[in-house]
Amino acid sequence: MRAGVWTLCAVVLWMVCSCGRTVPKSTAPTPPVHTERVREATLRIVGDVMQHTPQIDAARTAAGYDYVPCFEPVKEWLSNADLTIANLETTLRATPPYSGYPQFAAPSALAFALADAGVDVALLANNHICDRGRTGIINTIAALDSAGLRHTGAYCDLPDYARNNPLTMTVGGFRIAILNYTYGTNGIVTPRGVFVNRIDTVRIAADMERAATADIRVVCVHWGEEYHTRPSKAQRELAEWLYRKGATVIMGGHPHVVQPVEVLTDKWGRVRGVTFFSLGNYVSNQTTPGSDGGMVATLRFRQVGQEPIEISADWDFVWTHRYRKNGQRAYRILPLDALHKVINDSTVWRANRFRNSCRRFQTADTVIVGREFGRLN
Ligand SMILES: [Zn+2]
Repeated sequence: MRAGVWTLCAVVLWMVCSCGRTVPKSTAPTPPVHTERVREATLRIVGDVMQHTPQIDAARTAAGYDYVPCFEPVKEWLSNADLTIANLETTLRATPPYSGYPQFAAPSALAFALADAGVDVALLANNHICDRGRTGIINTIAALDSAGLRHTGAYCDLPDYARNNPLTMTVGGFRIAILNYTYGTNGIVTPRGVFVNRIDTVRIAADMERAATADIRVVCVHWGEEYHTRPSKAQRELAEWLYRKGATVIMGGHPHVVQPVEVLTDKWGRVRGVTFFSLGNYVSNQTTPGSDGGMVATLRFRQVGQEPIEISADWDFVWTHRYRKNGQRAYRILPLDALHKVINDSTVWRANRFRNSCRRFQTADTVIVGREFGRLN
């Protein structure tokens, strides 16, 4: 490359020297001016933000609740994307009573910590969003609004639904539409006056039409079988259908373990879609193998002029470190790369177990790159 540049310079120099005269300005050829607009955006998506009772207890302080230390090790990393999305799998409320599994209600302080850690958007369509009824949804959205987080997937009233379904934002010059759906709500019917997006292909098709003017459509789906490390037939079929309806990226949650990534290309080898079937847990108190951490997806979009949008995908892993601080239980999210530097307690075997479970994502078996778009089966 460098040799090529030097050769070009030498040729230009020879041409200038051998010419031996100054070309009048009026007839000088003007170099081509690249006025094409270049748009670039980085999108980051993290998995399920869970709040089990021990986590709520650990966040308690003399003054209330504080989740900021939990996100401290990943704050800088998370904040360097143009847009960061997290799946909030608990309801929020400003005052007690709080509760963990099976009907989640966590302190609103969690929303402030997420915002502080760089999260911009909370996904709400999941099987726990109706855990605290209508007021649970209203309180959750109020907490997110107070913290300055955008939200989609569940809606506190009709104006909220109209405004945020799909949630459309301009990021790096791109119009990005975020759509969010859940397979169900643990048998609880949606309370009157509030709305929860369910996996309903008629509704999704209508939403995709509304999102048609966006440059990028990110469809976030709460689906799959818990603790299954492979996507189900239903997940694969829905993903295929979503691409036919115009999805650019599909992001999955709910299995609590990481599932494969698929990068779809067209016949020219250009990336046309990326599916993260399940990102696993971003933070939780779960300990079953593979559920004590998750995947963090990074997507980069670049477009020159009217050329097709270039998409590239990357993924990293995080692990939830449960430890004791001043005699108290504590949690913090650690990037996988940092584990060996900071873990020197009895949890090191868990960290290593999670690290080993991530190795499979380096194999073609779990990361399918280049499957041709439109021929998914
Ligand atoms: Zn779930």
